[in-house]
Amino acid sequence: MSAVVQIEEIHKIYNSGEVPVHAVRGVTLQIAKGDFVAVMGASGSGKSTLMNLLGCLDRPTKGRYLLDGTDVSGLDRNQLADIRNQKLGFVFQGFNLLARTTARENVELPMLYGRTRFSSRELHERAMSCLELVGLGQRAEHLPNQLSGGQQQRVAIARALINEPQVILADEPTGNLDSKTSVEVMGVFQKLNTQGITIIMVTHELDIARYCKRNLIMRDGRLVSDVLVPQRSVATEELQKILEAEAAAKLTD
Ligand code: ADP
Ligand code: MG
Repeated sequence: MSAVVQIEEIHKIYNSGEVPVHAVRGVTLQIAKGDFVAVMGASGSGKSTLMNLLGCLDRPTKGRYLLDGTDVSGLDRNQLADIRNQKLGFVFQGFNLLARTTARENVELPMLYGRTRFSSRELHERAMSCLELVGLGQRAEHLPNQLSGGQQQRVAIARALINEPQVILADEPTGNLDSKTSVEVMGVFQKLNTQGITIIMVTHELDIARYCKRNLIMRDGRLVSDVLVPQRSVATEELQKILEAEAAAKLTD
């Protein structure tokens, strides 16, 4: 399999404060197309910094980054914005949806920022197909506050899909969700991954990382562990168990 993400000896030093902070200290990593990676590690270990570098939101102080075969380490802001638009989708802990805007319009937004101009009909159709992919075709005209947390995160995932990215980057996507809803969201990621989308996500929950194929651990800016998940959790099976347990609890009430 070819690597969609290849970083070599990458470093990030923040020079904004009084003392420089060496947040990422020489990470080398390859991620193949179709992989599903969890990045773990204590708070302050450099996970978000690494994700910002992988997401072309920030540039490395040192080191090389090949994204889908293109060297992006030396690109300027505008070039990075183009690459992000073409190749990457983002999902955040806090959903980041526009409040007075329907689910469908939220999903359409990234298409408005790209180079290509789409007709409103094309926008509509593509947004609807992404919403259907995450199981929200029926909720397209709802506002975010008319949706549950899990549904809002699924809208955010649909928005990340709209430009047909190679890679989805998610920083603690289940951080604001209860455990059952987290499993549902992991189910959506597993389904997308089956369709060939590469997923890289930060999580500090071990049982969430077990839905991924591969687990990385960061410590003090370094990659200290990189293992394949031996027995992956399957979200559809776990949900079934949760539903059965709920039904059993109701019977004994
Ligand atoms: P994590 O996501 O694992 O909690 P971060 O990547 O956010 O870790 O942070 C790694 C280190 O870099 C921390 O010491 C943090 O304080 C520092 N840091 C993060 N962002 C900045 C920034 N914009 N400016 C200065 N220091 C930063
Ligand atoms: Mg973080």
